[in-house]
Amino acid sequence: MAISEVQEESLAHIDKEALRKKYQEERNKRLRPDGNDQYIEIKGQLSHYLEDPYTPFVEREPIADHVTFAFVGGGFAGLVTCARLVEAGIKDVRIIEKGGDFGGTWYWNRYPGAQCDTASLIYMPLLEETGHMPTEKYAHAPEILRHCQRIGEQFGLYENALFHTQAEEIEWVEEKSCWLIKTNRGDAFTAQFVGLGTGPLHVPKLPGIPGIQSFKGHSFHTSRWDYEYTGGDPLGAPLDKLKDKRVGIIGTGATAVQCVPHLATASKELFVFQRTPSSVDERNNEPIDPEWFEEIATPGWQQRWLENFMANQTGQLAEEDLVMDGWTDLSRRVGARIQHLPPEQRTPENMLAAFEDSDFEKMEEIRSRADKIVNDPKTASNLKAWYRQLCKRPCFHDAYLQAFNEPGTHLIDTDGKGVERITDNGVVVAGQEYELDCIIFASGFEVGTEYKRRAGFDLKGRDGRRLSEHWANGMRTRHGIHVHGFPNAFIVQPTQGANLISNVPHNLTESGKTIGQIIAHAQEIGKQEVEVTAEAEEEWVQLLLTGSGMMIGSLDCTPGYYNNEGQEPGPAAKLNVGYPHGAAAYFKYIADWRDSGTYDGLTFR
Ligand code: NDP
Repeated sequence: MAISEVQEESLAHIDKEALRKKYQEERNKRLRPDGNDQYIEIKGQLSHYLEDPYTPFVEREPIADHVTFAFVGGGFAGLVTCARLVEAGIKDVRIIEKGGDFGGTWYWNRYPGAQCDTASLIYMPLLEETGHMPTEKYAHAPEILRHCQRIGEQFGLYENALFHTQAEEIEWVEEKSCWLIKTNRGDAFTAQFVGLGTGPLHVPKLPGIPGIQSFKGHSFHTSRWDYEYTGGDPLGAPLDKLKDKRVGIIGTGATAVQCVPHLATASKELFVFQRTPSSVDERNNEPIDPEWFEEIATPGWQQRWLENFMANQTGQLAEEDLVMDGWTDLSRRVGARIQHLPPEQRTPENMLAAFEDSDFEKMEEIRSRADKIVNDPKTASNLKAWYRQLCKRPCFHDAYLQAFNEPGTHLIDTDGKGVERITDNGVVVAGQEYELDCIIFASGFEVGTEYKRRAGFDLKGRDGRRLSEHWANGMRTRHGIHVHGFPNAFIVQPTQGANLISNVPHNLTESGKTIGQIIAHAQEIGKQEVEVTAEAEEEWVQLLLTGSGMMIGSLDCTPGYYNNEGQEPGPAAKLNVGYPHGAAAYFKYIADWRDSGTYDGLTFR
């Protein structure tokens, strides 16, 4: 893509200094000294917010056997890793999952309108292996949940799985070279290897709004959608029981953007309580044409698509852009600007300037959508996001802004302050009470809290050392996967690895491949244990510290979970980073490492 004259002209009309100042003012308005502590943990009297509305609980006898591999978490991480293990010939694989089925985030998030925001062809894992063709460019949640079940069925993962089960203690048993796993269902079984894929977005959080417990109406969190109350279903049937209800939704993040259009058309009145507007670009979803799919689905197609998206999204200047969407658009613009510069001017400063210019241009376009779509000028103005696009999770939707034209839908903008109070009857903002029948919390998930609080257990490794002790000064791993002192344990998640946030499953499938290969190798050479050496772990940590140290969003950004709510990260958070040379370099590095067959840094015993 070359920079067009129109683009150059649009940039010429942007007052960059004024925008920088506006971004700063809007950020400062939202900074709070309590950071992550503004949210409350769901427990005690609030624990009903965690109940599973989707699958009845079935009593069963506790288990006390042995498996080769146990994996905590039945979402994408567990499914892709266990699929690779099964392919490698390990049949007794057991997934332990707190939900009533596989799916992880897609098990819990069944709110109306839920769909993937990264293109299905690269977001849904193991498409080639399962032969599934996604029906839409951005598939809806029921299809993704069904795909998780399909992986479970195809790779025989249901047989051994324990659902509605939470691991509570996972302890290394030195004399037997295995892990002892105890659960909240009384199970106490052993596993030679364990995998941990508990993900960052599975513990719902509630805002610590004064009076939150006093509301006498109905309320629920979006990840436990109460279709009994609202009517409708996850497939899109109208929420017919809301037609006489005054509904409030707190939060305007990626979840709210997807469900607000459904609430807006179904509720008698809908009040959307907004603290920070999301940037909402166009979605342009479309059905996938089976004939076209047949043409592109030649052997190795999904890996090619994954790599192409990653290259385009991380500024690798790939020759073509297969996915072509809002994720790759910004990088394409930055890339075009850089290419436009003579080689001697491609300095780091000029590259950052190209990034900022492209961002200003993109965000102006996104803000102008509100003026074009929303009828009421004040509402349109309040829906504009004043920060750089990647400061917060970018959103994409073709019906969200339109929802504010529904006569019964009201945007209650809190000017960055958030909801003031919750009463018996409703929600108070700026001294005004909004009476409600139902409050829906679209308030997100715990990301910045301690790992053991989110996981529900604290791994106990060699010599009784806890993972929380080992990580007291920050996460320490090699490759984001191995931890010294925790033999035969593997972590499956993006941090300290590629950290490719725009397509999380890509990180997981690569880790799955790596782990499958390591275990197959251990078995081939007849070894019981595999562990990263202390030196190899330390070397990786030092390498990570040579990077820019940026969290996903920088501190200049509006506060949110991308940037530790705008608080200076403690020394521990400095390690919540990815491979310093970027996602593409990490994926290449790890593939070479895996394929070399030498497994440098690991010891097999
Ligand atoms: P978020 O954490 O993104 O959003 C929480 C919302 O609650 C924010 O708008 C926040 O405002 C608001 N909020 C918090 N406290 C208050 C308060 N006191 N008063 C008013 N508003 C308040 O949660 P989501 O569930 O929307 O999304 C979480 C993540 O899940 C996403 O970032 C994304 O990674 C993932 N996701 C992915 C989807 C997909 O791929 N299709 C779909 C949905 C989610 P503020 O911004 O000011 O903090």
